[in-house]
Amino acid sequence: MHEISVLKKFLDFPINSVGEIFDEFKTIEGHIFREKNTRSKKRFLYVEGKRENKVLLVAHADTYFDKGYFSEKHAVVEDNGILKAIDENGKPQLLGADDRAGVAMLWLLKDSGHSLLITDSEEDGRIASKWLMKENRDIAEKINQRHQFIIQLDRCNGREFKCYKVGTPAFRAFITEQSGYTEPDFGAKTDICSLCNDICGVNFSIGYYDQHSDYESLNINEWLNTLNLVKKILAIENLPKFHLPALFTFCFAHESFNVTVRLNTNLSLVVSRSKQKYPKRSN
Ligand SMILES: [Zn+2]
Repeated sequence: MHEISVLKKFLDFPINSVGEIFDEFKTIEGHIFREKNTRSKKRFLYVEGKRENKVLLVAHADTYFDKGYFSEKHAVVEDNGILKAIDENGKPQLLGADDRAGVAMLWLLKDSGHSLLITDSEEDGRIASKWLMKENRDIAEKINQRHQFIIQLDRCNGREFKCYKVGTPAFRAFITEQSGYTEPDFGAKTDICSLCNDICGVNFSIGYYDQHSDYESLNINEWLNTLNLVKKILAIENLPKFHLPALFTFCFAHESFNVTVRLNTNLSLVVSRSKQKYPKRSN
């Protein structure tokens, strides 16, 4: 199966190979890759999708042990639908499914018409996604203005989702209805917590367990199930936009465009400009 071979390809990358993951995505036409400097974890790759009503898909290229992991050998073995990694002596080893299994999904969805964002250093306090929002304002605005919501593919277990503090009751109801997954709690933080200034975001389970340890594993059927449900969501023709609640909204209509200013509950100020559908005639 094509999906499984792509999954295995990304799990086969050595743990210390963030740059090589970025290199794969640099082959996608129209990508934007930015890094503070060549030795920095402040780096990301963004590809904007071409369709209307699009979603941003997010995964991180780093793994928990991507710095200071000394075992070079990394063989992925399958046992009864479960993937694990072993070293050259057959001892269990970090698989890196958090989040290479999510990265593999983005690769499989690259031609869906939706947008992609690969980050570095999610495991290191979200260095790259914070840098994106602070020092790459053009991309931050594209993400929040041109997308209906964000889907991150980076959660442990099989059938859960989390919206943290970047979901609304309406968005949670939509995700619950589409997925049948449940939300265990609202705690912790991940990349969408930095990226969602104006729009909602969700992080789906992708089937990995015991992450950040040598006993990490991935359930192939659970991974496939989330891949298929994300495909189903992405295929919805008129995907609704889910805004985060605003403290206030101010609209200004000019002859040929509208300007909307929103102050969000996280105190971010979002200014968006859209064309007037029916511009006023001067005569
Ligand atoms: Zn992760």
